[in-house]
Amino acid sequence: MRKPIIAGNWKMNKTKAEAVSFLQDVKNSVPAADKVDSVVCSPDLFLDALVQEAEGTDVHIAAQNMHFEDNGAFTGETSPAALKDLGVTFVVLGHSERRDMFGETDESVNKKVKAALNHGLTPIVCVGETLDERESDKTNDVVTKQVNGALEGLTEDQVKGIVVAYEPVWAIGTGKTATSEQANDTCSVIRAALANTFSAETADQVRIQYGGSVKPANIQELLGQSDIDGALVGGASLEADSFLKLAEAGD
Ligand code: PEP
Repeated sequence: MRKPIIAGNWKMNKTKAEAVSFLQDVKNSVPAADKVDSVVCSPDLFLDALVQEAEGTDVHIAAQNMHFEDNGAFTGETSPAALKDLGVTFVVLGHSERRDMFGETDESVNKKVKAALNHGLTPIVCVGETLDERESDKTNDVVTKQVNGALEGLTEDQVKGIVVAYEPVWAIGTGKTATSEQANDTCSVIRAALANTFSAETADQVRIQYGGSVKPANIQELLGQSDIDGALVGGASLEADSFLKLAEAGD
């Protein structure tokens, strides 16, 4: 049994006061962490305050990106060591907004995945096709290449600990959700790619989230699919009530 993982990706939203207030509203109401992983992916600025607020609760705090080096002349970047030191436990890597707007590639995602694992952070590795790619029937090839690129050189044990988020780019922030069948089909392709590159036993343990306009009204059906083990949620994770409904759907 793969434990559901529901992650809210706040992107570049909220002030520190709003972030802390959100956490105070949800921290004692999310499902027990042995049943569901409830993750809040915050801008770096609030991570410290959120980790302190979440201490002793069932909420995990995640970063939305990081550099792959431990330190050095990388102005404006955050290191995996610094995230670990704060008490952050998950990190989103290769989100399509970072691939599209900030030059993230499969190669840089691969370096970041390795760095995260070396520092004991759990990577949430995002993959997904554009609308053009889906319409020209390239979805399976695109996600397989992204998964293999991101995980190249990892051991089976390392792969078992990561999370993959399947996020069709055309469904992010657009209100268009992939049908649960479309989402599950592509998550199955991702699991098959993992089985092919690593082993069926490893693929069976990797948690695969769906992301793209998930909301309380559609999460139940998505989570009911055989290869969907959770959700990565942007817009609908910004309000405490809505985040709680999403997390509870995993229970
Ligand atoms: C995301 O930010 O990863 C995402 C899926 O956003 P939204 O839920 O708003 O589509």
